[in-house]
Amino acid sequence: MSDTAKKINYKIIKSKKYKRITLSIKRSQQIIVSAPKGISTKKIDEFVNKNRQWIITNTIRLEENLNTKKHTFLDGDSFLYLGSIFSLKIIKTDNKDLTKLENILKNIEINRIKKEIIITLSSEINETKYKDIVVEFYRRETRKVILTKFEEVPYFNKMKKVINSIKIQKSNGRWGSCSRINNINFSNRLVMLPQQCIEYVIYHEITHIKEKNHGIGFYLELEKVCPNYKKFELEIKQIEKSHNVTLA
Ligand SMILES: [Zn+2]
Repeated sequence: MSDTAKKINYKIIKSKKYKRITLSIKRSQQIIVSAPKGISTKKIDEFVNKNRQWIITNTIRLEENLNTKKHTFLDGDSFLYLGSIFSLKIIKTDNKDLTKLENILKNIEINRIKKEIIITLSSEINETKYKDIVVEFYRRETRKVILTKFEEVPYFNKMKKVINSIKIQKSNGRWGSCSRINNINFSNRLVMLPQQCIEYVIYHEITHIKEKNHGIGFYLELEKVCPNYKKFELEIKQIEKSHNVTLA
């Protein structure tokens, strides 16, 4: 649906105290129109339509700000997980077992319907520790997804024998790298990307076994194994632009 065809939904608040029609967008992206009491719905609708572009621009900007701001690692923070935005839900408990990192990590629940990462922990745990928990959670999830891909995608599995080592590393910059001696590293936050983009990153790094630099030869090889690589490169760029894809 194009922007111009999309109906803008808004909430009207009428009051005697308002002298004119005003428009505002809440953080929740709800659009609020305040208007004087006697004004007709038609007039309000006209006003909203006249300001359609402003609403669209500002809603997009708001969304970008929400998604690119630094993580707080507190309850309500949001993180990408397999390409979707999940919110972090912290549940405090008096269960002393949940003071140990290992126990907390084992107990983390990913609710794919509600899109929540639910961390239950002892109320004794200081908020400054939440970041370490989330970072370790991402490292393990990334590890899991990579191991699964290397088992399930026949090409990756076949290439395992020419890879020297596969490691997950803390990296807020690159998604992956391949060394001269074919040690492949993946960023601990790789699981933030959609499944197909994760596969693209793996294809990319494996291609470096044959072609170390990003020359024409590299892309010819990459295209043989991942014909849609351009689409995924673009998708990753767009995700990086509109979301905080770091663990910082
Ligand atoms: Zn590369």
